[in-house]
Amino acid sequence: MMEITFWGVRGSIPSPGPEFNRYGGNTSCVSVKTRDGGLFILDAGTGITVLGKDLMTTEFGSGGGRATLLLSHAHWDHIQGFPFFAPVFVPGNHFTIYGPSESPAMVEGILEGQMDPHFSPVHSLRNLGADIEVLATQDGVSFEVEGVKVTGRFNPHGGYTALAYRLERGGVSLVYAPDASYVEGTPTAEIQELYREATVLIHDCTYTVEDQAVRLSRGQSSIADAARVAAMCNVGSLVMFHYDQDYTDEQVDALRARCRELLDTEPGGERVELVAAAEGCTLEI
Ligand SMILES: [Zn+2]
Repeated sequence: MMEITFWGVRGSIPSPGPEFNRYGGNTSCVSVKTRDGGLFILDAGTGITVLGKDLMTTEFGSGGGRATLLLSHAHWDHIQGFPFFAPVFVPGNHFTIYGPSESPAMVEGILEGQMDPHFSPVHSLRNLGADIEVLATQDGVSFEVEGVKVTGRFNPHGGYTALAYRLERGGVSLVYAPDASYVEGTPTAEIQELYREATVLIHDCTYTVEDQAVRLSRGQSSIADAARVAAMCNVGSLVMFHYDQDYTDEQVDALRARCRELLDTEPGGERVELVAAAEGCTLEI
């Protein structure tokens, strides 16, 4: 069993304001709890600050917490909440951070850069009270944490790359693919294998088809890309995620309705359940 909770569902920058209240304005962060208390955090956008407040009411408040943070990549919307994540300041908490680079030192260097005094009063990861272990996610190499098999694979993301993660345990599987721009619209064979028959696929749905056409260099998926890969890989549910920061609640409603239509035109797509991620919503699989 996995309990999946959304703390931030936006791409690029946060979207404060009443017209964004229903889906929420924080950037990317999702938590995954296992039945026996294992905790994974997918990305550290500003949503992680809200998760942090919630965790401070648990064993994380007194330094007895342990979690694994899986970073897809280090664009700001995926790390900008980390220096404000309250549990990292509590001695005794332990965090293992997996990130996208060739070595743990390179991942640590990226996170240290964010703490540089030009950008943050924290100055260094070493000033955080919690015990922080940093590791590198190797493309396609699975590892096991808290009884969960975790696999990361790189997707193209404009001029850069972003990891997609698959988490599997006890016959259920979650794939998190927040930023992806497939070459000619088709994922690699390796990525298709990663997504194949996932119970839930959380996928980049940044743009309408029309907006993506004029913003191709940004390296994001449209709802048509997401619908196509969800049907192609026969997933159980497609969860729309990482909405453009300018889309109001009404526009995300329309994005969801159009994505349903697009899914229904794909072979096998009518079998795929569709969910539009919103802050505070929880799925159990
Ligand atoms: Zn992003």
